[in-house]
Amino acid sequence: MSNTESLSGKVALITGASRGIGKEIAMELSKLGAEVFINYSSSDEKAEEVVNSIKNNGGKAHKLKFDVSKEDSVSSAFDKIIKINGSIDILVNNAGITRDGLLMRMKSEQWDEVLNTNLKGVFLCTKYASKFMMKKRSGNIVNISSVVGIIGNPGQANYSAAKAGVIGFTKTCAKEFASRGINVNAIAPGFIETEMTEKLNTEEIVKAIPLKRLGSCSQIANLVSFLVSSNAGSYITGQTISIDGGMSI
Ligand code: NAP
Repeated sequence: MSNTESLSGKVALITGASRGIGKEIAMELSKLGAEVFINYSSSDEKAEEVVNSIKNNGGKAHKLKFDVSKEDSVSSAFDKIIKINGSIDILVNNAGITRDGLLMRMKSEQWDEVLNTNLKGVFLCTKYASKFMMKKRSGNIVNISSVVGIIGNPGQANYSAAKAGVIGFTKTCAKEFASRGINVNAIAPGFIETEMTEKLNTEEIVKAIPLKRLGSCSQIANLVSFLVSSNAGSYITGQTISIDGGMSI
């Protein structure tokens, strides 16, 4: 089987795929033949554009609006996926937000919003996806963590706690699901050029990156596709793979 068909017949849900890293992951998995569900929380038009561009390239894609932090909405989203396809093979937990501020000034709402989306959202989507993957005795889950979950970052106590939580969660799920043929890994990107990093002072950031440049969404997407579609990836589970230009060294 050629690499371009390696995910043919597989169904993938990518959370937060209306833009940035998630969009690129969805495009990449579609190129490999997967039927993709494009989740988002509010950007209808952007999600529509992603779906159209995948369809224009001959792929299969569906828009799926739901809030990853709300169990009711996650549950009904999985009902829709199963109704359309009968199964799910790949879950990429990518949806994420930032609500930065120094701890002294951080409000409980800022803490809750970030933990609910970035950590509880990963728990909920994994719980519902794994139910179907377990029955099938195969599946692949990739959680998008962050370099900040490994080394911390002033002003991001909420975000770093959530992203560190994702790493522990990944290891536990990998151990719980291994006997059912489900691989679970995390990716810890450094600073990647997206809307999330647009507002930051990149000149200062680059000084702290050994490779002296930001990363791109396509590099993260390539790493996801390696994990979910390659022979080598099939023997990797429970790992957190850093892709950060050396920031976490
Ligand atoms: P982004 O451009 O801000 O996009 C975030 C995506 O998440 C959007 O599609 C957004 O949907 C969706 N989303 C937000 N809250 C949601 C919710 N409650 N339910 C469903 N979808 C929701 O982000 P990004 O920079 O591509 O980052 C993607 C992931 O990589 C995040 O987990 C982020 O923490 C992580 N990461 C990013 C970087 C970086 O440098 N960019 C570095 C390390 C890790 P709408 O468009 O509808 O709002």
